[in-house]
Amino acid sequence: MRIFDPHIHMTSRTTDDYERMAAAGVRALVEPAFWLGQPRTGAGSFADYFDSLVGWEPFRAAQFGIRHHATIALNPKEANDPRCREALALVPRYLDKDSVVAVGEIGYDAMTPEEDEVFTAQLAMAVEYELPALVHTPHRDKARGVDRTLAVVEDSGIAPGRVVVDHLNEVTVGAVHDAGCWMGFSIYPDTKMSPDRMVDILREHGLDRILVNSAADWGRSDPLLTLRTGEAMLAAGFTDDDVDRVLWRNPVEFYGQSGRLDLSELAATEPTFEGSSILRGGS
Ligand SMILES: [Zn+2]
Repeated sequence: MRIFDPHIHMTSRTTDDYERMAAAGVRALVEPAFWLGQPRTGAGSFADYFDSLVGWEPFRAAQFGIRHHATIALNPKEANDPRCREALALVPRYLDKDSVVAVGEIGYDAMTPEEDEVFTAQLAMAVEYELPALVHTPHRDKARGVDRTLAVVEDSGIAPGRVVVDHLNEVTVGAVHDAGCWMGFSIYPDTKMSPDRMVDILREHGLDRILVNSAADWGRSDPLLTLRTGEAMLAAGFTDDDVDRVLWRNPVEFYGQSGRLDLSELAATEPTFEGSSILRGGS
C-alpha cells in the first residue's frame, strides 16, 4: 500500500514516527502551517516556523524516503491575535517556494470578523499564486462553520475543484460535495472520524474528490490511521485499486494542481535508516 498523507503536522511528531510511517507505506505527505499550541507573540516566530516547514522538515522526512510538502498561511486561531497579524504579510514570500503546494490552513476557528478578513485575504492569495487552498473547519458549531466557509469560497472566485474543505464528518460532507469542493477527512483515535466511519462515508459518497488524512499533531492522534483506513476499506470489500485511489492518487491529483508536486524517483526508493545522521538527534 502506498500512502500520501495530505494533512499531517510533522513538526509535532518524533523521528520514530517518520520511521513507522515509512515502514507503513507513507511515501509523501503535506504539512499545513497551523497553530503550535503555545501562542506566538510576533511575526518572527512565524518566519522561523515557515522556514522549518520548507527546510528542516523536508530534510528530516527525506532521511526516511518520504517526500515532504507544505502549505503556508496565517492560521484561523492566531488570526485573532493582533500580535500575529503581521505574519499575513510574510505568507506571499513562502507561496513562491517550490515545496509549497497550497495556501493553508485557512478558514474559521471561532468565526470572528478578524477570521473573515484573514480568510478572504488568503483565498485571494491562492487565486493570485494559482495555488489550491486547504480550508480548516471549526470543531465547534461545525455545520454552521462549513456553510459559512462554502459561501466565502464561492465569493472568492477560486474554482471549487481547487479547494479542500477539511475535518468533515457525516453531517457536513453533503454540502461540500454539492459545492464541488474536495472533501477532507481527519481520522482520529477517539474523536471525529474513525476508519470504520470513513468506510461508510466512502460507501455512500464514492471515491471522487475525497482525501483521507491523519491530521496528526501535538494532540492525541496517530500518523498510521491512514494505513488503518486502507485496511478497513479492504476488509469491507474495496479493492487494492480503490485504496490506492483514495490514499495515493486523490492527493496527487488535488495537490498536483499546484504544478509543484515532486514525486520523481519515489516509487523506486526504499527507505534506508542506516547511517542516517538524524538518528543521532539534535544534541
Ligand atoms: Zn491541521
